[in-house]
Amino acid sequence: MRLTPFSTLSLLSIAVGLSFASTAQAARPEAPNLSNAEFQQCLDGLKNSSKFRGVDSFTFNNYRPTQPDPSVIQSLNYQPEFQKDVWDYLSVLVDKERVEDGIRAKRQWSDTLRQIESRYGVKAEHVLGVWGVESNFGQTLGTKPLFESLATLSCFDRRQSYFQGEYANALKIVQNGDIAPSDMTGSWAGAFGQTQFMPSTFLELAVDFDGDGRRDLVNSVPDALASTANFLDNRGYRTGEPWGYEVKLPDGFWAASNRKNKKSISHWRNQGLTLANGGSLPSDLSSAGLLLPAGIDGPAFLVGKNFETFYSYNASENYALAIAHLSDLITYEDSSKTDFVTAWPTNDPGISRQQSKEIQQALLNAGYDIGGVDGIIGDNTRTAIQQYQTSKGIFPADGRAGQTFYRAIIGNAAPSQVQYGQPANSQPLNPASADRMGQLIQQQTTIPNSYSTQPAAQPSTTGNTRYRRVTDADGTIKLVRVDEGS
Ligand code: CA
Repeated sequence: MRLTPFSTLSLLSIAVGLSFASTAQAARPEAPNLSNAEFQQCLDGLKNSSKFRGVDSFTFNNYRPTQPDPSVIQSLNYQPEFQKDVWDYLSVLVDKERVEDGIRAKRQWSDTLRQIESRYGVKAEHVLGVWGVESNFGQTLGTKPLFESLATLSCFDRRQSYFQGEYANALKIVQNGDIAPSDMTGSWAGAFGQTQFMPSTFLELAVDFDGDGRRDLVNSVPDALASTANFLDNRGYRTGEPWGYEVKLPDGFWAASNRKNKKSISHWRNQGLTLANGGSLPSDLSSAGLLLPAGIDGPAFLVGKNFETFYSYNASENYALAIAHLSDLITYEDSSKTDFVTAWPTNDPGISRQQSKEIQQALLNAGYDIGGVDGIIGDNTRTAIQQYQTSKGIFPADGRAGQTFYRAIIGNAAPSQVQYGQPANSQPLNPASADRMGQLIQQQTTIPNSYSTQPAAQPSTTGNTRYRRVTDADGTIKLVRVDEGS
């Protein structure tokens, strides 16, 4: 896919198949004109502010950007217009490809994972689930220069105070020698490395697990995996507990989704709930809440404390469910079926990244200029889908890539042009260096995971309210208190 000003900016929505019913242009604001004079003046002020007290002037000057990056302000203010369904979100994050990558990673890093499990008490597959969803097992780290992004966000628009703290922390990380300056790239908002930690989370929770004296979450898989385990442990992970399980509700049962309303397993047994396969609920969860991501007619889950630790990584229930489900499939080492036992309440389920690539290839073959095949249904692809739907009289022409559209376009493609099962242009399964554009776009899919409203200049000893910056399943950016749900 060609990197356009639009395709660099659409955050999680690009990767998870947000349903756009309008054109790309309508979906996001224009890149603002930012005054460089104002920017440089702001940086002069920051340099002497209390927030940057721990940053020496050599470090500050050496990594001081010469220009602001307007695209990060555009990203900050990007609000998708249309809600994305949970099945579209999960079908991309938990597909056959990612499960297989996870099984391979589990074998490759088994010794390290065993050591991490014994030190932090966090199950290997739970660490793998986070790693897979956050950075595609270290393959998608983000390529935006961190100092430029954070400096721009520190000087313009909303949340400047928060980003000033993160900017100072990013400089401290380089000053401490943990990460090479050239490795300080990440998402537009400053999350970086294989764990996609924000700089403040890094300073708080990153660990040196390979013993070289540096906490290198960019290049060291042991450091990254151990830091993830340390994060989950720090957020209250319970050793030996599952995250929860899919359940079956008894006939006539009604409840609202409320995962925070934790009850004992015997309570749920008495209510008539069973495992999704009909087996009785095991006793390995101390308490659990009911999660109904698509309401009473969709898959149902009982989730315990460890689900909450996934949630604390990025406060979205669908995000936490993706980690949970991916970790289960890696545990079972089964990539043959990525669906839940109960079907989603839709007649048009979501598609995998593989199917996305096939759709893109078919669109290219049909003459639509979507740039290339990367398996990510971004705005170019969505617009092309909408045009294709309109030209074929498919209703609604909503630009959504679901199973129905997949069948429609693959059925219409000449068999010689699109091969079933393999994309015709044989792109690598994951965006490695050969698929740089995929990386450039996927970098936008990671989310900072720790948000503090407490200015560094006014440290609070108690009651330090912490927030996470969250991109929810619908792509909406919001602040959520860290203690929510715990
Ligand atoms: Ca290290």
